[in-house]
Amino acid sequence: MGQPCAHQEDIVMGICYNHGSPETYIGVILGGANNTKVNGLNMAQESNVVVGFCGHIGIIVTSSNIVNAESLGVARQFDVVTGEGVVSNIMSGSNNVFIG
Ligand SMILES: [Zn+2]
Repeated sequence: MGQPCAHQEDIVMGICYNHGSPETYIGVILGGANNTKVNGLNMAQESNVVVGFCGHIGIIVTSSNIVNAESLGVARQFDVVTGEGVVSNIMSGSNNVFIG
């Protein structure tokens, strides 16, 4: 069945350790496949950039092993986003497209 396919504008949540004491990290997926859309938005891929509301950057580091978009694995809800001091997961995705 798989997990919901992630796309541009999906929400990422986790912890940001760049603030003295750890803060909740909430970010938005900015990057995406140039020409592959899901629900009208660019499909998210491994290596796409996430920007947190606190200003810190994350990168999508896990994705589907079996579905690619433009040579990169497609990201799904619950895939991992890390960065310098950022540990988080994608928390939203398509409500009608699922990726294994
Ligand atoms: Zn931060």
